[in-house]
Formats: sequence, structure tokens, C-alpha cells
Amino acid sequence: MVAANWKMNGTLVTIRPLLKKIIDEKQAGIRAEIAICPPFVYLDEISRQLDATGIFLGAQNLSQHESGAYTGEVSAKMLRDYNCRYVIVGHSERRTLYGETDELVANKFACAVAGGLTPILCIGEYLEEREAGDTESVIARQLDTVIDKSGISAFANAVIAYEPVWAIGTGKTATPEQAEEIHAFIRLRLARHDDKVADTIRIVYGGSIKAINAEELFTMADIDGGLVGGASLNADDFLTICHAAR
Ligand code: PEP
Repeated sequence: MVAANWKMNGTLVTIRPLLKKIIDEKQAGIRAEIAICPPFVYLDEISRQLDATGIFLGAQNLSQHESGAYTGEVSAKMLRDYNCRYVIVGHSERRTLYGETDELVANKFACAVAGGLTPILCIGEYLEEREAGDTESVIARQLDTVIDKSGISAFANAVIAYEPVWAIGTGKTATPEQAEEIHAFIRLRLARHDDKVADTIRIVYGGSIKAINAEELFTMADIDGGLVGGASLNADDFLTICHAAR
């Protein structure tokens, strides 16, 4: 699976031709599952364009509440109204810039699952944490908070994105070996609760995936695809990454 996180980029003028190229190429024969996560305001238009293309739609965030007086927020049910299958939960930019805690992320994950969406749960360590040798304990804490809240069975319909914070938008990609080590650790952690979930869940890597490094990342045993930020804004680069995920 390859998911595009467009973040707060683009306007109708730029996303229309980008989307058209992705749809055309998918239909010409890309085997990997593709998901596009645009800003909320473009969900309606993109949902219509993706109809019957085999490409899935995702949102970048959702509220931790089902409905009510939460100005500016968007609920899981609203996202379902626009045919979203996926929603990114706990992206490091939301954790860092908007103060999303592990608990809040766990609540959002629970709301996504309850609302019929497949969460793409982002977890990952800061550079200082890696350098201090704390990567595994950080990943375990982020993961366990969600398991404690929703139970392991909720992961049967979830995707995990391992995104080392030091690799996001920095041009510094984790080496395939660094990424694989943590992907395997995540799978093992899930297997403590449920072997089948651990075996079947998709664990994708995110952090400066580019056309030139996607293939070697995707050949690793526990890397099941990618969550792509910057490179997903360029159709040729993104499509090369999608082809690499065959
Ligand atoms: C992301 O935003 O999830 C991401 C991985 O960004 P980039 O590919 O730009 O590092």
C-alpha cells in the first residue's frame, strides 16, 4: 500500500492535474493499493473523481468526538459521508505542533474504528530519543496506549505507519535496515496479543520516501508500503514509488 499525505499543500489548480495523472497510471496497471489523503476541503471533489478507480480516499485527521459543539472539527461519520476509507491518526506534525498526546491519539483511533474508518496510526521517535537508545520504548509506549484503549482486535482493521520524526520532511530517510528493525519490533509487539493480527496488519514506512529509495525500503520483509509526504505532490515521483511497491 502507498498512501499520499498531501498535508496543507496544493490548490484546485495544482491538485486536479496531479490526481488525473495518478488515476490514469493506476488504471494503466499499478498493483499496489493507493490511498490519497488530501486536505478536508478537497474530499468532496476528490471523492467523486476517485469513484470506480480503485484508488482509496483518506483524511489527514479527525475529531476524538462523535459529534457536538466542537467548532472546526470533523467527525468520523462526516468522513464516511465522503467515502473516506482511511484516516491518518497521530501524525507527528499533529503530535508536535498541535499537542496531540498518546491518549488523544488513542481516542481518535477509537473514534475512527467506531466510525467505520481504517486508521493509519503514525508512530515514531524523535532524533534525541533514537540517540538516547529509546526508540523501542517510545514505539512501545505509543502503540500500547492505543492497544489499551481499543484492544488488539481493533488492529485487524488498521494500518500502522512507522515514521521516525527525524526523517519526516527532512530528506533524511531511515536506512532499509533501520526501518526494518523497528517494523519487526512493532510486529512482535502486536504478536504478544494476537499472532494473526501481527501477521496480517500492514506496517508502512514514512519519512522522506523518494523515487530513488522506495524500492530498497519495500523489499524489506516487514515493510508493507509507504506513507509519502513531499514526494506525493509530484505525480512522476509518487507513481515511481507506487510502482516500486509491486
Ligand atoms: C509524512 O508526512 O507522513 C511524511 C512521511 O512526509 P515526507 O515523505 O515528506 O517525509
